[in-house]
Amino acid sequence: MIDTKISWAHFTWNPWTGCNKVSEECEGCYAETILTRAGRDFSILSPTQTNVDPYRMEAGAKKWNRNSICFVCSLSDFFHIQADPWRGNAWRTIRQCPHVKFMLLTKRPERIMECLPADWASGYPNVWLGTTCGVRASYKRVDILRSVPCTLRFLSVEPLLESVTDIDLIGIGWVAVGGMSGRLHTTRKMDLEWAAEVHDICRAQRIPFLFKQASNAHTERGINALSLYFAGRAGQEVDPGTVPPIREYPMTELPLMPFSEHGKRFTMKEYRAYQSDA
Ligand code: SF4
Repeated sequence: MIDTKISWAHFTWNPWTGCNKVSEECEGCYAETILTRAGRDFSILSPTQTNVDPYRMEAGAKKWNRNSICFVCSLSDFFHIQADPWRGNAWRTIRQCPHVKFMLLTKRPERIMECLPADWASGYPNVWLGTTCGVRASYKRVDILRSVPCTLRFLSVEPLLESVTDIDLIGIGWVAVGGMSGRLHTTRKMDLEWAAEVHDICRAQRIPFLFKQASNAHTERGINALSLYFAGRAGQEVDPGTVPPIREYPMTELPLMPFSEHGKRFTMKEYRAYQSDA
């Protein structure tokens, strides 16, 4: 898939789809909804034919001497055991696209070490490894991720389902926080104070922080909710429409491709230029 609604990446790439739930944060899984609606058995993984997308992204990014960010397996889990036969090809594609930063987000970090390619060493420069931690029971995932050598480790604190105020962020280079979207957005609603707590830990440790969304039926809604929460806490009167979201990205050796003022996506003009150039 080229372009994505997911605000912390320019693109998604799904070399395979399908998955199964492993923890509380999986409860409202949108991948399950999408694939089940399409008539698929979500629990059976299947490879796709989308290898062309990373190469298109690489061509555009190389031409502009910039990086783009690719979220891998938005409809699966890169380290799912059923994907073992196909992962070697995915690693090859990743190696061949050095201008693309591949975000490998997993809820199965305990499988990472056994699935790394032989030439991984201290990590491919263009791979960021991440895990999900939206409840305290998932702290062990962060500990496992911390033990894996890699260029950049990130956390998806989404959906944030309780206060994680004592989360250990040592060794983590980027944190994205968001509330539950979909049918559970009211029953598993994120308290903005929980997001503020994580924000403050990141600030204290100089870790880039991205607020993705408030709890909402739809994804990417309430993107400046945390900024408004801070303004309210400080007693400031603001026009909600003018308050920008908090969306920081890790520093990279080359600039990232442009994001809009909301921290995501190209403008249509930029996107058309990218497509015609690639
Ligand atoms: S690991 Fe991700 S894709 Fe798999 S069930 Fe959980 S939320 Fe869905």
